[in-house]
Amino acid sequence: MGWIWWVLILFWTGGFAWFADTVRTAMRNRHQRKMELMEAKRSERLAVEAAHRPPEPVCGCTHHLSKHDKAGRCHERVEVPTAWDENKKPLRFEPGQCNCQQYVGPQPLSQVYADELTDLA
Ligand SMILES: [Zn+2]
Ligand SMILES: [Zn+2]
Repeated sequence: MGWIWWVLILFWTGGFAWFADTVRTAMRNRHQRKMELMEAKRSERLAVEAAHRPPEPVCGCTHHLSKHDKAGRCHERVEVPTAWDENKKPLRFEPGQCNCQQYVGPQPLSQVYADELTDLA
């Protein structure tokens, strides 16, 4: 067997490896594109769902609407710091009431409708 055969075999195996590699890369890219497409579709659906869901009725004081009375005052119990260390980090707390004066969060849909009906009457 002359040296030309060795050269041919080298070329052939090298070429085959290159070919296999190219096919593998192409498959991987296609798989990745498919995954990206699925991911995009999923986040799109999540965004649509989020847009249709009414917002959580949570006040600016971070407490739920149900913690506020008719006048808008918040009745949630909170921990009021009574002592601080030199870094202004609270050391001691005592129970107190949230000093929120008015609920400022989104109104639940049912309540908005009820209000409109009572306005008409
Ligand atoms: Zn509150
Ligand atoms: Zn509040």
